[in-house]
Amino acid sequence: MITLDQLNAAPSADFVALLDGTYEHSPWIAERAAAARPFLSLAQLKHALASVVREATRDEQLGLIRAHPELAGKAAIAGELTAESTNEQSRAGLTACTPEEFARLQQLNADYKAKFGWPFILAVRGPRGQGLSRGEIIATFARRLAGHPDFERAECLRHIHRIAEIRLNDKFGIEPVLGNQIWDWAEQLAAHSDPGFKEQGQLTVTYLTEAHRAVADQLARWMREDCGFDEVSIDAVGNVVGLYHGSDPAAPRLLTGSHYDTVRNAGKYDGRLGILVPMLCVRELQRAGRRLPYGLEVVGFAEEEGQRYKATFLGSGALIQRFKPEWLDQQDAQGVSMRQAMQAAGLPGTLAAIQALAREPKHYRGFVEVHIEQGPVLNELDLPLGIVTSINGSVRYVGEVQGMASHAGTTPMDRRRDAAAAVAELILYVEQRAAAVPDVVGTVGMLEVPAGSINVIPGRCKFSLDLRATTNAARDALDADVQAELARICARRGLSYQLTPTENASAAPSDPAWQQRWERVVQGLGLPVFRMPSGAGHDAMKLHEAMPQAMLFLRGLNSGISHNPLESISNDDAELCVRAFQALLEQEEL
Ligand SMILES: [Zn+2]
Repeated sequence: MITLDQLNAAPSADFVALLDGTYEHSPWIAERAAAARPFLSLAQLKHALASVVREATRDEQLGLIRAHPELAGKAAIAGELTAESTNEQSRAGLTACTPEEFARLQQLNADYKAKFGWPFILAVRGPRGQGLSRGEIIATFARRLAGHPDFERAECLRHIHRIAEIRLNDKFGIEPVLGNQIWDWAEQLAAHSDPGFKEQGQLTVTYLTEAHRAVADQLARWMREDCGFDEVSIDAVGNVVGLYHGSDPAAPRLLTGSHYDTVRNAGKYDGRLGILVPMLCVRELQRAGRRLPYGLEVVGFAEEEGQRYKATFLGSGALIQRFKPEWLDQQDAQGVSMRQAMQAAGLPGTLAAIQALAREPKHYRGFVEVHIEQGPVLNELDLPLGIVTSINGSVRYVGEVQGMASHAGTTPMDRRRDAAAAVAELILYVEQRAAAVPDVVGTVGMLEVPAGSINVIPGRCKFSLDLRATTNAARDALDADVQAELARICARRGLSYQLTPTENASAAPSDPAWQQRWERVVQGLGLPVFRMPSGAGHDAMKLHEAMPQAMLFLRGLNSGISHNPLESISNDDAELCVRAFQALLEQEEL
């Protein structure tokens, strides 16, 4: 077992020797990281090592990848692996393959090597650290074989850092027990899924279904029995609300939480991470017999994704008087009204009960939320945590351009009124205009030529438009430019068009004081402060209308993919997230 003090005090050569085996046959990484000492945390050491690899040449990176053995390859069979690799491969059961699995792995190894020119690298101990199954390994192998070489090289390096992280934990005798708890809770919640999806092993939990109620009951039970919250209840819209009293009952509370409903075929951490992390902080406070000076209110929001009813952010909206009365009569695809669904779930289903949920802003210090990033940025930069500066404001439209459908053969090029060509021009303009300004994004996600035909010039073209920016001003400028360009294109081509707004959400910049508190705690963990906008909407965006808010992002694995079963986090990252939240709660001026 080694310690940070030992590493910090050791002469460079000893530092390298102490870290021997962390990166396979590559002592140069530790050699270059030695200068970055002293390390104040293991997270900082891990980040420093990863940074050396980031800054290395492409040849050095490829050398590091090629220093690794194939999975269940010839070297493994011949017993020629390093002690660390032998341990990992045998833990993953790769030394006990069936003949079919072995043959499949050999074929994958050969195909992968032929395509990329280096061995396939996978952290076989996985995101929880306890080992992937052979089935999971083979499925991941097959999926990544289809990737692009640039992406795959970066992905191999990320897996090498994960392998090093687990090896370092072993060297330091450290187990991320808090991160494991988050991971295990998320697994247990994911056991509940709506009918039709559950049978296929997919996670889908939509508003007020049986699975949705089971998740709420489970959260309430954990809050009450495992975490020691003082008051736990399920409110009139199905939010799970836990309160941990502070030592001063009159002090304004801190509000936190996220949503527990999911999209269809979802990941396990979107929303739920932001409920589980503060729950675990309360459990640790309660175990230590401690009270914060102020009360902590943790809310599992019942609805954010707008899947069963068109009522997005219903859960957090109810806390700030944004529940629309007409929603109660809205019907789902089966014709069940929201009121009926509420009553079937044992909720009152009355407007009066819902309106009573509104919080008085002056009783709160603010709202904080942790959430997985749901994007590729942190993963690509080898950073576990990111500080959100603003939740993007957005405008959305559906549009249609009308020209003239005419014969593809007989209409000369200078006599056409091609609606689709006009929209194509618009798409390229949106791409160019959004790329020219930081933190602005624009997308045409839907495109359709109604009743189109291979030999007919498109007479109509329908499209969607989604524009987002970190400030309302930047969003509005983008919006105005895109609309002006659409008018120009249509005028030049002799076309007409309509553009119908469908959504308009204001940007929610983080409260400066709360953002700084997140920055301080990330720094305190020994990690660089990385600021980023949130491209997706979150519950914090709603609470923003009533109180100061700021969010912390956690890196997602697999390029940060979300709303997808491949969504994943590691136990070590989850641990850092809990540590960050604990440190936030202890900020002095709170
Ligand atoms: Zn979410």
